[in-house]
Amino acid sequence: MNPGEHPVMNHRIAIAGSEIAFDCAEDQSVLDAALRAGIELPYSCRKGVCGNCAGGIAQGEVEGVGGAAVRNESCTPEQVLYCMCTPRTDLQIRPVTWQRVDPGARKRFTAKVFRNQRAAPDVSVLQLRLPAGQRAKFHAGQYLQLALEDGSTRCYSMANAPHESDALTLHIRHVPGGAFSARVPSLQQGDLLDVELPHGAVTLAADSPQPIVFVAGGTGFAPIQSILDDMAKRRIKRPITLIWGARRADGIYLRSAVAKWQRKWPGTFRFVAALSEDAGGSEDAFAGRVDEALQAHCPDLAGHTLYACGSPGMVQAVRELALRQLGLAAADFHADVFVDGPALSAAEAVAA
Ligand SMILES: Cc1cc2nc3c(=O)[nH]c(=O)nc-3n(C[C@H](O)[C@H](O)[C@H](O)COP(=O)(O)OP(=O)(O)OC[C@H]3O[C@@H](n4cnc5c(N)ncnc54)[C@H](O)[C@@H]3O)c2cc1C
Repeated sequence: MNPGEHPVMNHRIAIAGSEIAFDCAEDQSVLDAALRAGIELPYSCRKGVCGNCAGGIAQGEVEGVGGAAVRNESCTPEQVLYCMCTPRTDLQIRPVTWQRVDPGARKRFTAKVFRNQRAAPDVSVLQLRLPAGQRAKFHAGQYLQLALEDGSTRCYSMANAPHESDALTLHIRHVPGGAFSARVPSLQQGDLLDVELPHGAVTLAADSPQPIVFVAGGTGFAPIQSILDDMAKRRIKRPITLIWGARRADGIYLRSAVAKWQRKWPGTFRFVAALSEDAGGSEDAFAGRVDEALQAHCPDLAGHTLYACGSPGMVQAVRELALRQLGLAAADFHADVFVDGPALSAAEAVAA
């Protein structure tokens, strides 16, 4: 599409039970049409992997964008992946949740590396400073897109709380051979990185009184740290269980943050380190994977809110267990799925 040209609008999509309706261009996904119209549906990877955007079709018919599959194993029989389907007729959709957002709120910054610390054998904590006088607006739990020289982008969750708005803290796992993460250990103070934020819809519903369970795998701890520090700052007090999984004890790389929350919320904050390979010597350790720790420590999740952040396999195992066996309601499951590889840029999403 040439600049200034508008996509051909094809079908109308309405959200069941609301006044909201928007147009969808030919071959545009339902998710991208919604985002373009300023309606945020749950999503994470936009590649048909994570299952976050699974939702219902109340009326009408869809087909896969470019012949893609419209369902995966995270969908119930009534659901499709909004990121993978496009309307064949006008539609009425029934998303798990939705909210209005301001598409103009997203900004680009050239940020400077301020500190680069090795937190675990394969994890760096990278602190970036924004240009003088500039502030980043985001909600705890959201992520940024970092632009690489080849034009592709990678997603990283902010680990700092939103009130620290002149800086961005990222937890980056070194993926062997990874175009960006493998070169993170050699980033120096003063190096420049182009970032765009905020992205993502996994944020805390602050007005809910429900107990919260956070399940993190590796650097999936990053958005959870942001949410917990934000809760501490806003004096939100709810029963909290944090289950953080790693292979060994050195993968639980920010014990000081955990200790801070334990001091802040004595009696209402519970921590479990799920160590799948070697749990020896650690008092709060559970020997096993995060889903096994969840089953052992939270056998009844009815009336709870659960946030799961980490690899697609981990999040899928937690989702299946929580929804199918532990009584969690689908609307109370929130996930940020760290799908590897280049992300779709906002421009690509709009053009799609
Ligand atoms: C919403 C979100 C939030 C994230 N937050 C974090 C975070 O806070 N911390 C963190 O450590 N990571 C996070 N990630 C993962 C991160 O975005 C990168 O994918 C990861 O760091 C690897 O990037 P890389 O450039 O080092 O590796 P890449 O060069 O992208 O390669 C990584 C792996 O992906 C494979 N791959 C390459 N291209 C493709 C492709 N087109 N399709 C499929 N696979 C491909 C490669 O073979 C390799 O195995 C997040 C991902 C998402 C989607």
